[in-house]
Amino acid sequence: MTLDVNQLIDKLVCENLKTLVPYESARRLFAASDNNQGEHIPVWLNANESPFVNDFQVDSQFFNRYPDCQPSAVIQAYADYAGVKPEQTLVSRGADEGIELLIRAFCTPNQDRILICPPTYGMYAISAETCNVGIDKAPLKADFSLDIDAIAKFKDQVNLVFICSPNNPTGTSVASEQVEQVLQHFADSALVVVDEAYIEFDLANTWAKLLDTYPNLVVLRTLSKAFALAGLRCGFTLANRQIIHTLLKVIAPYPMPEPVAQIAAQALNQSGLVSMNQQVKAIQEQKSALKHALVNIGDIQLVGDDKANFILFRTQHKQELMDYLVANKMFIRDQSKQLHLQNCLRITVGTPQQNQQLLTLIASFYQQLGNPS
Ligand SMILES: *Cc1c(COP(=O)(O)O)cnc(C)c1O
Repeated sequence: MTLDVNQLIDKLVCENLKTLVPYESARRLFAASDNNQGEHIPVWLNANESPFVNDFQVDSQFFNRYPDCQPSAVIQAYADYAGVKPEQTLVSRGADEGIELLIRAFCTPNQDRILICPPTYGMYAISAETCNVGIDKAPLKADFSLDIDAIAKFKDQVNLVFICSPNNPTGTSVASEQVEQVLQHFADSALVVVDEAYIEFDLANTWAKLLDTYPNLVVLRTLSKAFALAGLRCGFTLANRQIIHTLLKVIAPYPMPEPVAQIAAQALNQSGLVSMNQQVKAIQEQKSALKHALVNIGDIQLVGDDKANFILFRTQHKQELMDYLVANKMFIRDQSKQLHLQNCLRITVGTPQQNQQLLTLIASFYQQLGNPS
């Protein structure tokens, strides 16, 4: 009997992958349906990217060679920036790869589990699923603080606890007493991974400087948000030397392309850090202006907090508003399927001009709603 390719795949594919679907970014989905009509250029305020574009130089003289696995200029620069030691620093293809390396290194498939606290970033669960690792959930409380009692029940049942702070998509930071309680509770049984992808917008709350105090602490960082380099795919895992050493067992031999290493080093040099800080300041100002304008429109209610580069809000008209914005090539993110987030939409803070365009569109949407034609 000859199998067609679908039957062959069905026979061979990992059991846990059968129900998964490949990730589709909003940009890909909308680009496919884009009819390129109308005078507006699309505005992407859906993925928490930076609206800033910075310039870099690339030197091709080493392109014939394999790159360093852990380019020392990048490691040293990031360690200095984060206030940790180089041996406590791992660079990878985005923080997303850091998440996957942690799961692959510390969770045995079909046996071990991770703990997540929804509503939160989706990649912890996706990575666990693709690795055939179990997922337990201790949902955030209604005020988006950690439910410490619920988390505590998973002692000895999970190998990794993911805490996102500032949290995507709620914009809330986890109180330091809460993170500390989790670190202590799991001291002998799990690594506690604090995802600080947005930490530049809430610097006072970083855990990076406490690696020496908590041996089970891991901190995730990225150049994708405040550093305006989502296209680069460069992130960092900060942890004790022995944890980094373990992660190096599962990372690819040459994960960091040479041009990525060169650009990351430039982003982290003195002038790179100066512009990052200026850009963060500009985004913070825009964020508060946007918030103040939004609360005065229609039935909009802000949800969560503003510790990152986005704003979450609730409206009873979320679907019509989304449709209206999409029709006008303004893309924001629907978060309404997440726990506690019924009717919630998330806006990434953009340039003053983009934010103004967004506000104008939202205002005209509510105007139409008030005067149906
Ligand atoms: C964007 C984001 C990441 C992923 O960052 P990359 O470095 O681009 O992979 C990780 N965690 C959270 C919470 C994020 O929002």
